[in-house]
Amino acid sequence: PLVLGIETSCDETGIGIVRGRTLLSNTIASSMDEHARYGGVVPEVAARAHLEALQPAIEAALAEAQVTLDDLDAVAVTSGPGLAGALMVGIGAAKGLAVSLGKPLYAVNHLVGHIAADILDQDAGPLEYPTVALLVSGGHTSLLLVRDLTHDVELLGETVDDAAGEAFDKVARVLGLPYPGGPEIDRAAASGDPGAVAFPRGLSRASDMAEHRYDFSFSGLKTAVARFVEANPEMRADDAGRADIAASFREAVVDVLVTKALNACRDHGVPRLLLGGGVIANRRLREVALERAAAAGVAVRIPPFSLCTDNGAMIAALAAELIASGADPSTLAFGADSTLPVTEIQVRS
Ligand code: ATP
Ligand code: MG
Ligand code: FE
Repeated sequence: PLVLGIETSCDETGIGIVRGRTLLSNTIASSMDEHARYGGVVPEVAARAHLEALQPAIEAALAEAQVTLDDLDAVAVTSGPGLAGALMVGIGAAKGLAVSLGKPLYAVNHLVGHIAADILDQDAGPLEYPTVALLVSGGHTSLLLVRDLTHDVELLGETVDDAAGEAFDKVARVLGLPYPGGPEIDRAAASGDPGAVAFPRGLSRASDMAEHRYDFSFSGLKTAVARFVEANPEMRADDAGRADIAASFREAVVDVLVTKALNACRDHGVPRLLLGGGVIANRRLREVALERAAAAGVAVRIPPFSLCTDNGAMIAALAAELIASGADPSTLAFGADSTLPVTEIQVRS
């Protein structure tokens, strides 16, 4: 089916068009520049930016895919999780489009969409089940067991406080680096020694393992970095010192993410790991994941970066899979659900 997907859960206005598992276009407009001066995404600013960006983004996506609205078989939209006001803008647009075109509408889960992005990576071959999936972004850090994208996604664990990307952004601020902090820390860490400072690995003690084996915690790490910087101001003031702190912090995050993901693979006898979300851009995370997975006999899939960050193509791809599996469209009764659980792959009404 030819599906247009609309994604507005955070600061990216994403419009994607797919034909089945083939990506035809993926247009992304971001309001990140507007948020940068506030040091974080401002919900009202994001919602207004979506309103302005949607129409031109839809037109650009149609032009790039060389299709018209009449050609579409269905419209898909993110109904959650995400910022309520931002989600509502995309949902309103999707409903209007579906009703005026007389096409079916599919309301889908943003997190499962991140997994569906992988289906569009055709060089990697078909996605095999079951697979463990690690989603790491500015808003989420989730470990999932995916038996089937369209009807069986299990939440193994998630962050109990900050998301991994959020930790990068907060620690960047502590180090005096600009927002968004992930890429800045990655760059600063390149010349640093990851073993310079022994920062804590959250929820990794033996005593944490019974209840939190697959959960993450990054707020203690963030506090530890802040305390360390306070106690060692000369290190922050100096490029080499900053590089060591950034590298040590990055290593602590990466170590926990990869260790827990591979634990999940081993515990469940699943030799496949899929990575998604904006933090996957982190060079050290890719490196350590590939290295340790290879040693454990686990095959790693990482979609191209343009499909890892928030985008509309992944939403269209998920809807196309749902359609292929025989799922009924959503009714018009659904709304934005900022805390939609990952197990709810499609919102029917
Ligand atoms: P959501 O959580 O809803 O998916 P988001 O917009 O917060 O939304 P993404 O756009 O997927 O998430 O990712 C943005 C996050 O990724 C930011 O926190 C940013 O700092 C982080 N990030 C980007 N590049 C890197 C990097 N090289 N290393 C670490 N973190 C990074
Ligand atoms: Mg974003
Ligand atoms: Fe996302």
